Amino acid sequence: MRDVTVVRLNRRWATINVAKLGPVRFRLSRPLPEAFGMAHITMDRAGRWHVSFTAPQPVLERTTTGRSIGLDAGVVATLTGSDRMRRHAPGLGADEAHRLRRLQRKLARQQKGSNRRARTKSSIGRLRAREADRRKNWIEQTTTELVGDYDLIAIEDLRVKNMVRSAKGTVEQPGTHVAQKRGLNRAISAQSWSQFRRRLEDKAATCDVTVVAVNPAFTSQRCSACGHTEEMNRESQAVFLCRACEHYDNADVNAATNILAAGLAVTARGGTPRQGPDETRTRPVAA
Ligand SMILES: [Zn+2]
Repeated sequence: MRDVTVVRLNRRWATINVAKLGPVRFRLSRPLPEAFGMAHITMDRAGRWHVSFTAPQPVLERTTTGRSIGLDAGVVATLTGSDRMRRHAPGLGADEAHRLRRLQRKLARQQKGSNRRARTKSSIGRLRAREADRRKNWIEQTTTELVGDYDLIAIEDLRVKNMVRSAKGTVEQPGTHVAQKRGLNRAISAQSWSQFRRRLEDKAATCDVTVVAVNPAFTSQRCSACGHTEEMNRESQAVFLCRACEHYDNADVNAATNILAAGLAVTARGGTPRQGPDETRTRPVAA
């Protein structure tokens, strides 16, 4: 919605004028922006309505640290840094995950269009929304910390990676059930990752931090010590062992080191990218 009228009622409540509906009351979960450009009104999977306003990203105060990091996004560790930093995104707890699976089985048995089915669906939606809230908070916290700690952050251009992966399929791990489950995990993490990347870029743009997105091809197969690239180097999900120089490391750390090297190569080649809040400094480049 454009050109919205918002009237603040008190500390916790305000109303917004919605076309064809009139004023709608909503609870304030954070301070209102000084000026209103556009408002987005959305419903989440738990059936909760949300009003959000576009406001400029507040400038983050920071001092130059002289540090750079490459980040590997994985399904297992979620986030691994070239300096061995590890962060795990929160999901559902064991009990919650168990409950979700039970609800999903129940849903499959229930009659389409029935009230019971609708209730099960909304319980599932509430669990999913809880998971999404946790992940969103984690993304906010983690991106703020990263932008505070590093002058340059190299990430993978995962849009490219997803294309590469879907073309290859899941040959490495046959069995339809496993493949399905892994596909699902990947889909969820791909969505979280585009959120993560957007927040990282928004914050970096306000405070002189460079984010570089590099081509992820072969980052997990290339040896970060000698450059030898071979599928066999990837000993297992967790272990990297170079067939040429016997360099041995955690597979995610090896990948993150390659990502950092690619990011540094790009910024050295292209000079310091121009900086300003209005432009994105993330450029897809060849690794
Ligand atoms: Zn090597």
